[in-house]
Parts: sequence; C-alpha cells; structure tokens
Amino acid sequence: MISVSIRCEKCGAALQSHLGSDLHGRHVLDVWPCAECARVMVRESLDSEVVVERLADYAHRAWSGWMRHMLKHWDRLHVSGWRRQMATDYSDLSADEQASDIRQAKEIVAILHGLLGKVDA
Ligand SMILES: [Zn+2]
Repeated sequence: MISVSIRCEKCGAALQSHLGSDLHGRHVLDVWPCAECARVMVRESLDSEVVVERLADYAHRAWSGWMRHMLKHWDRLHVSGWRRQMATDYSDLSADEQASDIRQAKEIVAILHGLLGKVDA
C-alpha cells in the first residue's frame, strides 16, 4: 500500500490517504474529509428535516404501540405496576424491563444508520 499526501476535499487540510486496490486489482485512491469536516457533516445531517420526520414517525409508532398495550391490559394490577415503572429511573429497572427500552433504543440506532447511509453530504 502506498501512502500519498492529499488534502481534505472540504477544508483543504493536509491528510494522509492510501492507494489501495479494488476487487478487480485496479489502483484506487480513497479520498476522505478530515475528521473535523466529517463531524460537521454528520451533525448537519442529523439536523435535517428528514431525520426529524423519521424519528417523529418512530415516536408515534412507539406511543401508539404502548397505548394499545395499556388499553388492552388496563386493570388495577397493571396500573399499579406502570405507576412504579414510571417513577423508576432506567438504571433501577429490572433486566426484563430494561430489555424493552433497549429494543426501542436499537430501533432508533438502526433508523439513524439508515439515514446516515442515505444522506448525501
Ligand atoms: Zn476538512
């Protein structure tokens, strides 16, 4: 692998890059923004309306799923359990109770990965 000196395509800062080979053995030059420009690009991507709309869609689905569950299981026993849970910090929940929040967090992470893959910086 040959090291070459190139400049960030955004701000022009000098950075190292590598001359590698693609699947067909052709020499290819990977061009990257510098680390700071990459951070700015990600931040700008997260501020976009598309991200807000996609997360709002997720928030609504999470809320309506929870409402369906509550209306289906509404009784004194469940309500007292929900009261305890809503007054409990995440770190103090049981592993089973945390598992549900972890599933939802992973869904948000998957949404963000999908959006970052699509956003053209
Ligand atoms: Zn840069």
